[in-house]
Amino acid sequence: MQLKGVDFLVTFRCPSVCKHCSYKAGFHRTGFIHVAHVTTWLRAIHERHQLEIVTIHGGEPFLYMDIVKHIVNEARLLNIPKIHIITNGYWAKEDRGTEKKLQGLKQMGLTGITVSIDAFHQEYVPIEHAKRAIQWSCALGFETVAVDSYYLGSEKDDNHYNAETERILMDLQTIGGVHFSKYTLRLEGRGADTLSSYLKPQHEIPSGSCPFRFWLGGDFSNPETVEIDHAGNVTLCPGLSIGNARDETLTDILDRYDMRTHPVISLLKETGPIGLYELAKRKGYDGTQAFVDECHLCYTMRKYLKPYYTRFLSPSACY
Ligand code: SF4
Repeated sequence: MQLKGVDFLVTFRCPSVCKHCSYKAGFHRTGFIHVAHVTTWLRAIHERHQLEIVTIHGGEPFLYMDIVKHIVNEARLLNIPKIHIITNGYWAKEDRGTEKKLQGLKQMGLTGITVSIDAFHQEYVPIEHAKRAIQWSCALGFETVAVDSYYLGSEKDDNHYNAETERILMDLQTIGGVHFSKYTLRLEGRGADTLSSYLKPQHEIPSGSCPFRFWLGGDFSNPETVEIDHAGNVTLCPGLSIGNARDETLTDILDRYDMRTHPVISLLKETGPIGLYELAKRKGYDGTQAFVDECHLCYTMRKYLKPYYTRFLSPSACY
């Protein structure tokens, strides 16, 4: 494994309980990453992998500003060129406080910010707050200012959520210097539980390959990024763990990783998520549900198989 990036999932706590959230974040979740762990894990990875980017997200990382500052500071001390944060912008309630927060982070070394904006986030976060976070990020000259939006099905699919996302984004087009990205929502986590009825299920069990997480880069044989959450889970997709950095050293986890020996990833790689479906059926799954796509199938089967592979299908709160 030759990593270029690490994502710190600071917390799964969040002021929003978005319907589509893969991690099932929300105000009911507890726990946050310990700064001592951040220091140990970041140094251990950087020693061997020459990181190009550290990303800070959650949950909502701005709930824990001291931890965010610690991560930025540690990454800057290691001369990691890109230090990025992903937020829903809930905290940008007025200009003065927003400018101060962002200015402070920029001076410490934060290079980029992504604000999540779509119909799902805006059920909880006033668009004025998210917009203010973007405007001040642009005004302060961050290297990267981005907006990520998720669509149900394709961007062209006609449904209430996509129409609302388009309406919300229209208002932001006049802000210059922002990189807008539109993504198809993968039905997993809370999204699988609450949104699958909006999409047409496939007649057959989806038999394609795993699309792998675009934001990680690489593939299962050589992922370019790992995510690490506050409980130490080192994951390659929400709820898909390759080890726990609080139980063993991160270096051991990364050095030992071989997709061929991981009971879930090896199947995903060989057969796609349909392999998990066949495994679940052998373990008693009744096979009656229909699925929207490969990720919907994968998540549902992983949820079923979780008691058999607790160590690998973690953190359990994603399910
Ligand atoms: S198929 Fe499974 S492991 Fe692959 S990206 Fe989709 S949910 Fe993640």
